[in-house]
Amino acid sequence: MGHDHHHHHHHLESITSDLKKIYIAAIILNALFVAFEAWMGFHSDSLSLVSDAGHKLVDVFSLCLTLLAFILAGSRPGKRFTFGYRKLTVIISLVNAIFVAIVAGTIIYESIEKMMDPSALSPDGEAISITAGVGIIINALSVFLLSYKRRHDVNTRGAFLHMLTDCLLSIGVVIAGFIIKWTGFVLLDPIVGLCIAGFILANILSVLVESFKMSIDAVPEGIDVAKIEEDMVSVPGVKDVSDLHIWPVSTTETALTAKMYIDAGAGQTEIVRQVKERVKAAGIQDSTIEVILPE
Ligand SMILES: [Zn+2]
Repeated sequence: MGHDHHHHHHHLESITSDLKKIYIAAIILNALFVAFEAWMGFHSDSLSLVSDAGHKLVDVFSLCLTLLAFILAGSRPGKRFTFGYRKLTVIISLVNAIFVAIVAGTIIYESIEKMMDPSALSPDGEAISITAGVGIIINALSVFLLSYKRRHDVNTRGAFLHMLTDCLLSIGVVIAGFIIKWTGFVLLDPIVGLCIAGFILANILSVLVESFKMSIDAVPEGIDVAKIEEDMVSVPGVKDVSDLHIWPVSTTETALTAKMYIDAGAGQTEIVRQVKERVKAAGIQDSTIEVILPE
């Protein structure tokens, strides 16, 4: 059977060294901003800033996770860890999602509590605008960093688009800060905070469900089992497929094992090559197929 396995790892390693530096720079930049924004948020009594700091903390986590996935994808299987440490990305994703859901839930609770008693509100509109303005610069820098290599990798392209969206969000918070300063409409602060936290929670719930499913080896989202089985059986010489297992090796890699019954006298090597090619086209990098000849 072919060794597409090694080729795949080699390809990842060659893009990893440049990407690693870009990710580390983006992580440090955004982590510093999270600390700054959270401090400003508590200092200026602003829930929209605290909420956005929570949101950026999520972004830092997902950048870390993507970086870790790159590093772990290159980790060699050991004697006791025959899959390497790639599955760690799934566990980290799950723990991260639980943590984020708790943070978002707390901010939503705080926002509602503050909205019930607006007399206690005293957000500093100017501080909100200035902090969100710094956020625009940080997001723009991140967009610039990630645009450098984004064409080579789907995760990086996703991160690039996300940071671009975040620029718009920061512009929105700058405007909210001005409105609070000029009109004294203090209720806008917890409203913005609630919207951001609600948005985080809505997004993280799907990640939570997906990473939980992945941790118990469910077929990853976007992979059509029936279609793959059909593709395998449609290769000339293949009679049937059984014991088909598809599971995530990491958040980005998927494996498959199956038993395949073939016709007597059919060219085994060629059949397996074609089947593996179709399986790979369906997004599954590692496949192990047991060929069963007629009695
Ligand atoms: Zn974001």
